[in-house]
Amino acid sequence: LFPYTTLFRSYHSATMQSFLHALILALALTSTSAFSTRRMTTRMSATMTEPMTGVTQPISSRTITGIKAREILDSRGNPTVEVDLTTGQGMFRASVPSGASTGIYEAVELRDGGDRYAGKGVLQAIENVNKMTPKLLGMDVLDQQAIDDLMCELDGTPNKAKMGANAILGVSLAASKAGAAASGVPLYRHYANLAGNDLNEYTLPVPCFNVINGGSHAGNKLAFQEFFVIPTGAATFKEGMQIGCEVFAKLKGIIKKEFGGDATLVGDEGGFGPPCDEQTGIQLALEAIEKAGYASVCELGLDVAASEFKVEGQDCYDLDIFNGSQDDNLKMTGAELLNFYAKLANDYPIATMEDVFDQDDWENWSKIVAQLGDKVQIVGDDLTVTNIEKIKRAVDEKAANALLLKVNQIGSISESIAAVKLAKQNGWGVMTSHRSGETEDDYIADLAVGLCTGEIKTGAPCRGERTAKYNQLLRIEEEVSGSSVYAGKNV
Ligand code: PEP
Ligand code: MG
Repeated sequence: LFPYTTLFRSYHSATMQSFLHALILALALTSTSAFSTRRMTTRMSATMTEPMTGVTQPISSRTITGIKAREILDSRGNPTVEVDLTTGQGMFRASVPSGASTGIYEAVELRDGGDRYAGKGVLQAIENVNKMTPKLLGMDVLDQQAIDDLMCELDGTPNKAKMGANAILGVSLAASKAGAAASGVPLYRHYANLAGNDLNEYTLPVPCFNVINGGSHAGNKLAFQEFFVIPTGAATFKEGMQIGCEVFAKLKGIIKKEFGGDATLVGDEGGFGPPCDEQTGIQLALEAIEKAGYASVCELGLDVAASEFKVEGQDCYDLDIFNGSQDDNLKMTGAELLNFYAKLANDYPIATMEDVFDQDDWENWSKIVAQLGDKVQIVGDDLTVTNIEKIKRAVDEKAANALLLKVNQIGSISESIAAVKLAKQNGWGVMTSHRSGETEDDYIADLAVGLCTGEIKTGAPCRGERTAKYNQLLRIEEEVSGSSVYAGKNV
């Protein structure tokens, strides 16, 4: 499953290029007192050649000339931040996702409170983008690090509590798209360049299809949040997609027959929400794989999201919590839950398990890695929150062996790249992830390819905001045909 040892060979030369770009830009701008006005940047006539691509462009094509943020809606109908960032090359748009089973150590998603949208408005975050904008105008979109650093500095808190991670990430993402255009390369290539990831061959990630939804993502009683079908044995990403879709269709028929049509209504991430227990969920997914004829090429995975059913202050995981905690037999200690996982890993072809214990239950995380870590990928999500300090601790305590990459957990592209690098340097796997509340924005597809994460989860092959990402990966695979591999079992 891991380690996935991509080398970041040209990191230093990329840093040097950024420095030179900044220097030349500064020289071009020193005739005025502030890097601030649209008029000034459009007046500049100097050109620069981007060393990685050889593309020569006017400096203004790399200079931020405008930023506009607005409130849009995510896939749950909750407000979220969208940012339009303008350079001499045009307008670049990005939007920010939002979780439901959010880890308590994630960067702060700023919400307005009050009655409007039941307190979920993001007008303050929009206002914060407006406040940061004068400082960002005139900056070079190729210097992603400087843009992200400046926003973190303007925020001044360790968890982006002042500006909001949703405000900062919106700008960071839009800047990265503008940076790709300024370099004249596709977004996945730009992310590879930002990471200093000198790719000759692109790796298309294995899709982890969340075909059964439980926990905080569905209205059923299932405690485990996500059940993945993973076509590790496919030959290409495209074939993996076809397998996922065919298995998903078979699963619908099986669930309808067993539980009736109501159970085929889909949850937040597009998977079905049958009224069943954990083991049955696994068996349903397996049956669908077998009926579709893909038993030899598919494995299974779980995102338990255990922080959602940990009983505060007790050594107790309540697997009946989404059913009103009626059945005491479904309450387990950490040790019992570990035994349950060991049995599942023994009985079923489970390749990956995420958030197996609560975000503060470090001891049990270390125990499961010691017991199952050589055959099952143990993924930190709430545990590691895409944060290098948390990842360092998890490495030291051998508490996980893979990172879930969620950019809004940390709030900027630069910090996300740093988290991925740290995970990889320690031999971990990396799974790029959507959030349960998504938009149509598909940048995580490019991120997965550019950072060579080898794995992605972005829901079932169902609902537009989920398929947007899978569809973008289909396009990328087509575009890099001849110089790409499908991660497959090597992940
Ligand atoms: C997850 O827990 O991995 C997930 C995608 O859900 P959410 O976005 O609700 O945290
Ligand atoms: Mg998770």
